[in-house]
Formats: sequence, C-alpha cells, structure tokens
Amino acid sequence: MKVFLSTDIEGTAGIVDWGQVLGSGEYEMGRRLLQSEVNAAIDGALEAGATELVVNDSHWTMQNLLPAELHGRASLISGKHKPLYMMEGLDGSFDAVFMIAYHGAISAERAILSHTYNPFAIYEARLNGRAVGESALNALVAQHHGVPVVLITGDDATREEAEPFMPGIEGVVVKRSITRFAAHSLHPEEACDRIRDGAKAALGRLGSFSPPAIDSPATLDITLLTSDMAEMATWVDGVERTDTRAVRVVSDEPLALYRRFVTIVSLTRTIAESG
Ligand SMILES: [Zn+2]
Repeated sequence: MKVFLSTDIEGTAGIVDWGQVLGSGEYEMGRRLLQSEVNAAIDGALEAGATELVVNDSHWTMQNLLPAELHGRASLISGKHKPLYMMEGLDGSFDAVFMIAYHGAISAERAILSHTYNPFAIYEARLNGRAVGESALNALVAQHHGVPVVLITGDDATREEAEPFMPGIEGVVVKRSITRFAAHSLHPEEACDRIRDGAKAALGRLGSFSPPAIDSPATLDITLLTSDMAEMATWVDGVERTDTRAVRVVSDEPLALYRRFVTIVSLTRTIAESG
C-alpha cells in the first residue's frame, strides 16, 4: 500500500503566526511541531499496513522537514520549483493521499493563517462556483491520477472546506480558529495521537473512498489582488480575463486546470514581491 503525504505547516497544532512558519522567530519550533505531526501520520499509516510512504514537503521553500527524522523510512521530496508543486510526486501507483497540516482558504470566514497559495496575489479562488483553498485545488491532481484523498489535518475550517470535494474524508481537527491569528490548539502530543489514529482509520476503510470527483469541465475563477496581476495571468494560455481583477480557466482536464493555476501563482509572484 503506497501513501503520498503532502505536507504544509499552518495547520499544525500550536501554530498561530507567520513568524512560526516562515524562517524567523519561532520557526525552529514550528518545523519541529510539524515534523512530529507528519511522523504521527506515518506511524498510523504503517500500523494500517502501508508499505511505501512518499512525503512531499510543500510549504514555503519546501525544506521544512528534517530528512533523517522522518519515521518509517519514508522518502522525501523537498526543494522548490517543483512542476506539480504541493502534489509533486503523486502518480497513479499510489493508493491514498494524506494532506497534513493544511489550512483554510484566503476567503474563509475564520481560519488561522488563511491563504490560498500566495496571500499577496490570490484574493479568492472559486472552483465550479464554490470558494476553495489549497485542498480542493490540490485534489485536482489526485483526481487526474485517480487516487483518493483520505486524510486531512488542520483547523476546523480546513476540514469543512475539504468535505464537499473529498466526500467522507477523515478529518483530524487539531485546533479551532478564533481569528486569522488566534486559535485554540490541542496539546501537540494529543494532536499527534489523533493524527496517528486518523491515518490508521482512514486507511482501514480505504475501500470506501473514491478519487475526488470535481465536475468536468471545471471552471476555476481567480480574483487577484491588483489588475496588473490579472493582466499578467492572461499571459498563460487558456486564461481569460473576466473582470478588472478576475480571470477564468475552464478545462475538462483537472491536471491542466491545476497547472494553469500554479503557473498564475508563479508568474504573479514577480509583481507581488515588488510590492
Ligand atoms: Zn499552504
């Protein structure tokens, strides 16, 4: 049984601030809290019979996890400029996808450290009319490969956002968001225990899952922060301007939709970073 783990960080229990996830302040603490949660998911997967585990470190520079400390002799994909970004490494040979330490969308009402890929460029993303975050966008890649997403961990908003696109997904809520910068977290040890149990339970009922079934052709509407960014997004083939700051992509191929989205994210970063 092969399991693919896509790991972010903002959905880790105890984490509430950018300084804990972006290489300043308490980052060393944040990455260790994440490491423990990833290892707990691996332990749970092993208990359920997983034989191969591939972890894709998907946050920021994508070098957050400590290779030698990964449990279960999991292999690690890390480093930046990966073509399939948060889902790099997934293919049809896998049996299940885990999304670990995920967070809510930028458009969420109340979600700790909410953003959708780039908080300085993406104001909102809607898939077939419904506001989405990273979980649903990344699910497009799982849909392409026909692999079910069986586990997601993070705050309560993260779990709620995943359900419509990944029905029946095992959701482990490790904190409740109070505002975008405040949350009530489980103790890290309790969070890890629940993630281990959740991973084991999800794989234990693997037969009950189907791959994500996002209606096709799918329409992805993206609102950007500025009109310049929307203009730049139309440099990507197949991207159509729908409003001053909005663009649309329509495709019957989930992977093509995802690739256009991450291309827009990469391209608009050049404007976002120039202020
Ligand atoms: Zn993220």
